[in-house]
Amino acid sequence: MINKIRDKLKQEPAYANESASFLYLIRVTLLMMFVYYLALGIFVLAGSGIDKTASYLGVIVLALSVINLLLLYFSYKLHAGTVLYCLLILTAVISYILTGGFGWRASFHYVLYALLFVFWYNPLNSIKAKVVSSALVALVVSIISLRTPLGISVYEENDVRLRVVIYGNLTYAAILLSVVAYFYCTQYIEAERKLHLYNRELKKLAETDPLTKLNNRRFAEDELAELEKKYENEEEAVCICIGDIDHFKHVNDNYGHDAGDYILVRLAGFFRELMKDRGFVVRWGGEEFLFAFAGVNGDDAKILLDDLRIEIENTEFVFKGQQIRITVTFGLEEYDRYSGMQAAIKTADQKLYMGKESGRNRVVF
Ligand code: GH3
Ligand code: MG
Ligand code: MG
Repeated sequence: MINKIRDKLKQEPAYANESASFLYLIRVTLLMMFVYYLALGIFVLAGSGIDKTASYLGVIVLALSVINLLLLYFSYKLHAGTVLYCLLILTAVISYILTGGFGWRASFHYVLYALLFVFWYNPLNSIKAKVVSSALVALVVSIISLRTPLGISVYEENDVRLRVVIYGNLTYAAILLSVVAYFYCTQYIEAERKLHLYNRELKKLAETDPLTKLNNRRFAEDELAELEKKYENEEEAVCICIGDIDHFKHVNDNYGHDAGDYILVRLAGFFRELMKDRGFVVRWGGEEFLFAFAGVNGDDAKILLDDLRIEIENTEFVFKGQQIRITVTFGLEEYDRYSGMQAAIKTADQKLYMGKESGRNRVVF
């Protein structure tokens, strides 16, 4: 039942460019207004006895609670802003009539201040519009204050009914304000959570190569700096290797660019598998890949890379019925704490070049 009511109150706005949470807050406010004024109306009417003014006030409160319900109905059809302005006018009228009847002490005007926070909540409104709405609320409260008697009430000063009305109003205003505050609080947390998720998503996108789904050079640069920091004072070895596909231009020329792309994706699979739990691999450039081995020395990395190199050499890649064979050349260098990470990358690159010069399809260490 409660879930049903909540789903109904949360129903999407009729207009696409409106804030769903703002409308939800307005509907919750309207429902609370309806329930509260219904209870107050019944209380005043039931306790009025032969006092005609009190009976009239009770009937007015009941009538206004019904209008609140109507407004709730119209919140599914009208703009949220329109509904809120109607609610402001309605509440101002309620406050004016009831303050006239029960006196300023009865504190009907506090609800108007709660509405002020509802105005401020609208995420799609400008600050200017919010300030104008606040000024309007303050003006309405001032008018009510000036135009209604201070202490005169249909109830005597010590009448318990007056106390019930006063405490009722103050409690209701406090609850309404708390509900609005709850909305602010949850929306803030929700907004921050979404921002966090989007940032993570964005960071991932910025660090991923769209073709091979491997991380890219941007990721590697940050990660290599981290690796350098981490292994600065450790005895364990770190190795950097750059691999480049041999005569890749021929693959594109002979089998088409799509075939080249296919080879890149397939090789990324081999590389990812090799580096699992050993460090990371990124697409360093067009058909160049950088491998960072953490906690693996040069000799061991050379064995691993040679095995991989032979596996690639022996693999027949098939793209649209075309059989393609490729080889890869690797330049491998052990990271040295004194000369730093950039030097290791540079040397790995030079060794790759040496590998190309000396016939390709090899690991130069
Ligand atoms: P080498 O053995 O000396 O490395 O010869 P190579 O042909 O591989 O070297 P070169 O640097 O001349 O050519 C690299 C080619 O890689 C050229 C470029 O078109 C291709 N390439 C780079 N990025 C991509 C890509 O994303 N997809 C495809 N299909 N080809 C790419
Ligand atoms: Mg190449
Ligand atoms: Mg190249």
